[in-house]
Amino acid sequence: ERKPFISGNWKLNPQSKDEAVALASGIAGSITESSPDAEVALFVPYVFIESAQSAVGGKLSIGAEGVCPQGNGAYTGAISAPMLNSIGVNWVLAGHSERREIFGETDEYINEQCLKIIDEGMSVMLCIGESLAEFEQDLAGSVCAVQLKKGLKGIKKEDLGRVAIAYEPVWAIGTGKVATPEIAQSVHETCRSIIAKIYDDEAAQDMRILYGGSVSPESVDDLMKQPDIDGALVGGASLDSDKFGRIINFQK
Ligand code: 13P
Repeated sequence: ERKPFISGNWKLNPQSKDEAVALASGIAGSITESSPDAEVALFVPYVFIESAQSAVGGKLSIGAEGVCPQGNGAYTGAISAPMLNSIGVNWVLAGHSERREIFGETDEYINEQCLKIIDEGMSVMLCIGESLAEFEQDLAGSVCAVQLKKGLKGIKKEDLGRVAIAYEPVWAIGTGKVATPEIAQSVHETCRSIIAKIYDDEAAQDMRILYGGSVSPESVDDLMKQPDIDGALVGGASLDSDKFGRIINFQK
């Protein structure tokens, strides 16, 4: 049984530490004894990690939105995996489409990040997904196959317990156009079969594959009912503690 995984990605929000602390504690407050037995994580800007950790008091984990694959040295402005590990970060995002598009990160660079995160003993959420043009040309599966193969390259099967995949079709991110449960399920099933080819059936069955792209309180339940959708990576709705609280308390 794969444990459901609900996660939020704050991106470049909010704009102050006070707001970050209020949001994190509001979200933590929505986790009660009757909440689903799910792993919950928030990926937040580096500067808010430690105050968010204090605010949630261990009720959920606070992850980082990225990492520089270099260990140390002359990389002005960068944050390393050991730095994140030293402040108790467990989950780190890699491969988000905004990093690929806006910051020019390649599959090779994303792979270096994944390897470094694993090497440091942390866990990585590898984001993959096709553009609208690729979707319209029926290329979702093949784009995901390339991103999975290149992103996971060199990660050993025994380390896959510290890997999760987030399928985020670019056309669904921030657009309000959530993928239908059927479309998402179909790509998730394809991704699972690609993981079976790269590793084996056991690895594929154990891998958690989350859906991301305009997930809302209205869409989460039907997405979570799909057999190959193991969770959600939520952008906009993770900035509202009521909305994200409802998503954490999804109903299957
Ligand atoms: P939205 O939920 O705002 O569409 O963002 C999804 C996303 O990019 C999460 O990483």
